[in-house]
Amino acid sequence: MKKSCTLTAVLLSLTMILSGCLGGYESSSASSDNSVSNTARESETEITTISEETTVLVEETTTEATTEATTEATTTEATTTAEETTTKNNDNNLSDKLVVHYIDVGQGDSIFIELPNGEAMLIDAGEKDYGDKVVTYIHSKGYDTLDYVVATHAHSDHIGGMANVVDNFNVKNFYMISASATTQAYSNMLNAVKKSGASVHNAMAGETILNDRNLSVEIVAPKEIDNDNQNNNSVVIKLTYGDNKFVFAGDAEKSEEDGIWTNIKCDVLKIGHHGSDSSSTANFLKKTEAKYAVISCGLNNSYGHPTDSVLKRLNDRNIAVYRTDLQGTIVFTSNGKDISVNVKPSENNQPVVTTAVTTTVVTTTTTAPVTTVATTTTTAPLKTGGTIYVLNTNTKKIHYKDCSSVKQMKDSNKSYTDDYNGAIAQGYKPCKKCNPR
Ligand SMILES: [Zn+2]
Ligand SMILES: [Zn+2]
Repeated sequence: MKKSCTLTAVLLSLTMILSGCLGGYESSSASSDNSVSNTARESETEITTISEETTVLVEETTTEATTEATTEATTTEATTTAEETTTKNNDNNLSDKLVVHYIDVGQGDSIFIELPNGEAMLIDAGEKDYGDKVVTYIHSKGYDTLDYVVATHAHSDHIGGMANVVDNFNVKNFYMISASATTQAYSNMLNAVKKSGASVHNAMAGETILNDRNLSVEIVAPKEIDNDNQNNNSVVIKLTYGDNKFVFAGDAEKSEEDGIWTNIKCDVLKIGHHGSDSSSTANFLKKTEAKYAVISCGLNNSYGHPTDSVLKRLNDRNIAVYRTDLQGTIVFTSNGKDISVNVKPSENNQPVVTTAVTTTVVTTTTTAPVTTVATTTTTAPLKTGGTIYVLNTNTKKIHYKDCSSVKQMKDSNKSYTDDYNGAIAQGYKPCKKCNPR
């Protein structure tokens, strides 16, 4: 980032020097370029255009020089900077990692992305109460600048914490749709963005947030504004790094999913609308060909998310499911070729099963790593919606999920069940702090 700034500065100063002799040609060319540029990105485009123009000018000037030696001498500074930038881009595939954090913000969404080019991106910021958690989480990763922030849509479970985030970071580019809302969360966000001085971009399908050699971030929806359902105005993002692709669907429901015309094949899909039945149609899942799905929702939320029907559709396609309600923050890492995850797939993603045949399938899942309550899982498959208890497989204690001890528990010691009596029968003792039941 610093490097490209330096490059721009160098090129700008070269423009000033060269404009003395080539001013007439340059200004007419630059203005015609600007006339076709997207007005929402005006200032940014202008700089890019000038840079490109200058590069051309530098090349033209140096071509006129009689020897290659002279060419090298006059452009040393700019060339070196350009080379450094290129080297960094090449390194993307070798050592720089893309890290995608699906932060546990209860019933809501917040996804922090460390891009392999050193930049940082945030999609949504959860409810207002989670604003501090999101801010602290990103700070703890060593970032004070957010190059790209996306507000997917105006619902508070996505933008409630946004004002807090914008106030606490140097936000460079802010992406949102132009459809307005009248909620407090929305006006707080708008005021914070205005105050921040970030460039604001209209986030409609076709907009490119970033397009590097091995790295691109594109907006694939919405195509049009839905005045009746904010969820269908969700900004849907496709992130490509080398061979790996991530799609973030906001709260997009069926009609928005159906309207996506871009190729949205991906490895990892952030499931739309917290696993609601109104999203993730079989057709959409088929289009994505996703191998991994992340569901961001609150444990035992009043909406019944994720629904059994969505879990079944994911199961039918053999998509590995990760859930923030059961597993906390989920972190995917990509080197442009391979993807790794900080936790194993959720073992509780099976829809309710009743027949012996399906129970056999469930038994298969007990080969998944967290197997201490295998018997519980096999004999009484979890029904989503019932009270889910957290088991400490090390201390043999059973907790309510809200218990403060659960927060301190190692993930590797955690297991989940909705069968309290079954756990007691297996020797688990109720936690004295939260005293379940
Ligand atoms: Zn939502
Ligand atoms: Zn929503």
